[in-house]
Amino acid sequence: MIDLRDVGEAQIIEGIPASPGVVVGKAFILDTERPHVEQERISPEEMQEEIENFTTAIDETRRELLKLRSGLEQELGETHARIFDAHLMILEDSTVVEGTVRRIREEGINAAFALTETIGHVTKAMERTRDEYLRERVYDIKDIERRLLMRLLGRKARSLKNLEDDVIVLAQELAPTHTASMHRERVVGFGTEVGGRTSHAAIMARSLEIPAVVGLHGATDIIRQGETVIIDGTVGLLVYRFDSAILDYYAERKRKLAEFEQELLTYKDYPAVTKDGRKFELGANIEIPDEVTSALSHGAEGIGLFRTEYLFIARDDLPSEDEQYEAYRDVVKAMAPSPVVIRTLDVGGDKFGPHGAAEREANPFLGWRGIRYSLSHPDLFIKQLKAILRASVHGNVQIMFPMISSLQEVWDAKQVLEAARQELTVTGREFAPDIDVGIMVETPAAVAIAEILAAEVDFFSIGSNDLVQYTLAVDRGNDRVAYLYDQYHPAILKLISETVRAAKRQRKWVGLCGEMAGDPLSVLLLIGFGLNKLSTSPLMLPEVKSIVRASSYSYARKVVQRAMSMKTGPEVRRYLETIFTKRFPEISATEMIT
Ligand code: PEP
Ligand code: MG
Repeated sequence: MIDLRDVGEAQIIEGIPASPGVVVGKAFILDTERPHVEQERISPEEMQEEIENFTTAIDETRRELLKLRSGLEQELGETHARIFDAHLMILEDSTVVEGTVRRIREEGINAAFALTETIGHVTKAMERTRDEYLRERVYDIKDIERRLLMRLLGRKARSLKNLEDDVIVLAQELAPTHTASMHRERVVGFGTEVGGRTSHAAIMARSLEIPAVVGLHGATDIIRQGETVIIDGTVGLLVYRFDSAILDYYAERKRKLAEFEQELLTYKDYPAVTKDGRKFELGANIEIPDEVTSALSHGAEGIGLFRTEYLFIARDDLPSEDEQYEAYRDVVKAMAPSPVVIRTLDVGGDKFGPHGAAEREANPFLGWRGIRYSLSHPDLFIKQLKAILRASVHGNVQIMFPMISSLQEVWDAKQVLEAARQELTVTGREFAPDIDVGIMVETPAAVAIAEILAAEVDFFSIGSNDLVQYTLAVDRGNDRVAYLYDQYHPAILKLISETVRAAKRQRKWVGLCGEMAGDPLSVLLLIGFGLNKLSTSPLMLPEVKSIVRASSYSYARKVVQRAMSMKTGPEVRRYLETIFTKRFPEISATEMIT
């Protein structure tokens, strides 16, 4: 473990690693705050002009967004571009547009103030909800408000366009409209104050492959515009006010990481097989279809988890069966003949919900989430299953149900799947006859009845992110209890081991697709547990493969035995760190910084 304070003088803000890599650059503090607006009385003569200014601002903003949309569509595809549709719809919304015009007329006030009043009214109720989907919509609405205000006040937002130097963007939060243009400008990394691993900005950073850290509390106040900073997306740090020793250290770290990555990539087409001949399938986790390119270039042998939630966000309607079919088909075709595990919608918890899922819940993680939501919305569920089935003729599709906690749910889900098959047969649509159907094992209940469940399905995929949260009763997104979130807790090791054993007894394959699969420190353990498949972010695949290829299964089994004899999580972590540093000094050097 390297302590940066031993290297030189530096200040750091710790955040959550969102996209790996290291970058040094000038900070560009993006103005994502709304400009301050004063109320002004206007005379009846000025009223018409004020209304015209407002409608011009709407037209110009629409043109700007359409331009951004088409640029993004050309470069990153339709799925990314669709992000703007929700924004464009706000500009058409009568509550916003007519509401503002009415206020200007009836209250005799300036357009900018009338707009902030209207938006405040619209978002007030939405803001109070804990529903992630609605809160995201509030963010979109405020982004539009900010853009309109800048135009009305004749102010120019600090633009990312025509930058002379490479910059690291720091912002409170990044809207899709910001991240959308980043790839074309000189943005080499970014950091946000808020946001989690599944936030839009984090997902975008990974698909653009630029280093990023989220959850950097206070960064936009502490860092000065133009100040040179370092983003370490691998460990999740923002480093600033550092001396030349730190800069040299990071220059060297960056060079080594690039060299190391190149070296790892030379093995991208080699199998993930241990020294004593045990083969693992390494899959990629993807959120959007375009990430397939990254999965392939990093040597994925399939898609181990296609989180389909993304197709449902940033829109006010539900994606049609055809639209979903096209998205699934593109991924399946690109990966064929390798398998693609498509997980049915896992809304709820901390994830965005689709339109209509806006009811506030006291305990969303224990509420209407995953399979529970789908089973309660048979129309939505059957539409998704039909789209997946139709995509199956283009390659190797496997279907996976999330958040299973009882056998009844598996029966019910399989029944809906059967109904989807029948509907397709009646309408003469083709689908592959034998599709593997599996479940996420991510609740302690599923582990306890794993053997019963294994008899009903073709495979298991352990969702360690949720398994840790539900087993240890620790909200995975809550900072206050983050210190208790421990994937090496003896209870977790026991549950993983139990799950593998139950699957094996029923001769079913078992994988793990939580963040743990991409954590180098965990890989040796996961090999030793006897899992068949690991699936993680494409960017982590080369490293995971190198660990598998340099390890032996017989040794990994011993590591598991030893770890499982320990009484606490920290003891297991220390043990793993010790052997890891010894066996993989090169990787340790890239990961272990505090
Ligand atoms: C998990 O829970 O480990 C998992 C892979 O699913 P998600 O992170 O999407 O809940
Ligand atoms: Mg999960």
